Amino acid sequence: MTAQVAFDLRGKTAVLATMHGKEAAISPLLQRLLGLRVIVPDGLDTDRFGTFSREIPRAGSALDAARAKIEEGFARVPGSTIGIASEGSYGPHPDVPYLPLGHEHVLLIDRHTGLELVGRHVGAALHMAAARATSVDEAIALAERWRFPAQGVLVMRLDGEQPSPRRGIHKELRTLPALQQAVARIVAEDGAAWLETDLRAHRNPPRMRWIRRATLDLVRAFRSRCPACERPGFVRSSSVEGLPCASCRQPTSTIKAFVRACVSCGHQACEPVDVAWADPALCDLCNP
Ligand SMILES: [Zn+2]
Ligand SMILES: [Zn+2]
Repeated sequence: MTAQVAFDLRGKTAVLATMHGKEAAISPLLQRLLGLRVIVPDGLDTDRFGTFSREIPRAGSALDAARAKIEEGFARVPGSTIGIASEGSYGPHPDVPYLPLGHEHVLLIDRHTGLELVGRHVGAALHMAAARATSVDEAIALAERWRFPAQGVLVMRLDGEQPSPRRGIHKELRTLPALQQAVARIVAEDGAAWLETDLRAHRNPPRMRWIRRATLDLVRAFRSRCPACERPGFVRSSSVEGLPCASCRQPTSTIKAFVRACVSCGHQACEPVDVAWADPALCDLCNP
């Protein structure tokens, strides 16, 4: 059997371990582009691996959580050889103050071949926002700015200045009157309420688009075969700076090449960018 045949996924059954409607973003692409038959098991509670609203903290990394979900999926659908799960991870941007950074991962594990592939999408997460409101009007203005009700909004009680889902959280508000009522009750008791965008995929349309992009990245990773071992997953792993300046010909901090590495055998190759010179405007010597 050649590697090409061994890694053909067409007609294979994949278990997608998800709740919150992520299959709408993931399944059609995997069916159409990889030929997988995707099953979503009923009654899977992926919230026990961690929730965005923090009642249940996530143990370990986003990929650890995705692996745990896939494990659970295999237990539910023993006939499947392929497991898929997605996990997002959101936090402060390392360089830009007040800008949240989001990472979406879609993980594929083939338990026959041991292949593990990750599709990613990373960006400034404008769909993650939070604020304190001391009146119903203030809360409505926030909710409307965030495009509620198309975009879900969570309303929480505060413990001092800190949002405290343990003291009280409304996760299933669907209408403006329901949101008004929830905020009014909390403000009457505590003087302020905490509002934030719901990051659960089915309540966050931009996040659903990001998960779709991460799925496409996974398909690209699958299609990129390693020249040494022929397995899928010959993907960009790092970049090399030093593209020479078009004016002074000295190396700049602009990327001159990407390194591709095989997720299975570790084979590496350098992939130069398709431009020869860096813009002098980005050169530290010409434009300090
Ligand atoms: Zn220069
Ligand atoms: Zn390889």
